Amino acid sequence: MKIAVLSGKGGAGKTMIAVNLSELMTDGVYVDCDVEEPNGHLFFKPKVTEVKEVNVKLPKVNQELCNGCRKCVEFCKFNALAYIKNTLLVFDEVCHSCGGCSIICPENAIKEEDKAIGSIQSGYSEGTKVISGFMNIGESSGVPIIEELNHMISSEENVIIDCPPGSACVVMESIKEADYCILVAEPTIFGTHNLAMVHELAVKFNKKIGVIINKTFSENNPAKEYCIKNNLPILSVLPYDSELGLINSNGLIAVREQENYKKFFALILEDVLEEVRNETTSNIKR
Ligand code: SF4
Ligand code: SF4
Repeated sequence: MKIAVLSGKGGAGKTMIAVNLSELMTDGVYVDCDVEEPNGHLFFKPKVTEVKEVNVKLPKVNQELCNGCRKCVEFCKFNALAYIKNTLLVFDEVCHSCGGCSIICPENAIKEEDKAIGSIQSGYSEGTKVISGFMNIGESSGVPIIEELNHMISSEENVIIDCPPGSACVVMESIKEADYCILVAEPTIFGTHNLAMVHELAVKFNKKIGVIINKTFSENNPAKEYCIKNNLPILSVLPYDSELGLINSNGLIAVREQENYKKFFALILEDVLEEVRNETTSNIKR
């Protein structure tokens, strides 16, 4: 089963929750899909056993063969090609590597070339498998790296997916294979707005959902009100906790450090696993 942890904004506690839940799972696999800024490995400090490069295909034009017919320009739905002053230009940043232009060119003037956009590191930390995606600086999209991460975890059990913040296409790609989505929110009006964003996304993807409200500090809790109004199950409300903050800022994993955190996160994990299992059971034809 695959559990995605997501949040509409950075800093809500998504990675802290993903790291602690993965650590508690038997044969757990932690996957960092926050490829622009992966930081789960800073907690796990895994012994890296494999590094693999992630490439995309980009068109390379042979201007000698190009006759300027512009068929490729008309074909490209991403406006990644332009024919200007007898030269076919390729805008790598907006190319989606669909390969269509090289197929459609009647002169065979376009070939595809590999370009490295990032890498994936795999390793182990005290029995937890840690897989992290890293996007190279200056690249425009981490989606191909997340696609590769999804491919790598397709046969894995007990996976926790640490998603990128927000609700853009990188988040959609990260939750695609998830059986359950944990939405992490802060108890502020801004945090509630961000919760609504990821809630809408998870509903569109037809996912089972639970919410963790992190860093609560008063009775006034708009995120909780939002959950009640929208019938969203609250998995846990985590009060603002400077001790937990200190453990995190020292790059440590709370469930490894203190028994009370182990119990706390184990309860959340049990609830989620029960929800997922119920779903699985109800899907079996009898
Ligand atoms: S389809 Fe081929 S020949 Fe026509 S403009 Fe594009 S690269 Fe040039
Ligand atoms: S590979 Fe696809 S997206 Fe990229 S330039 Fe060619 S047609 Fe456009």
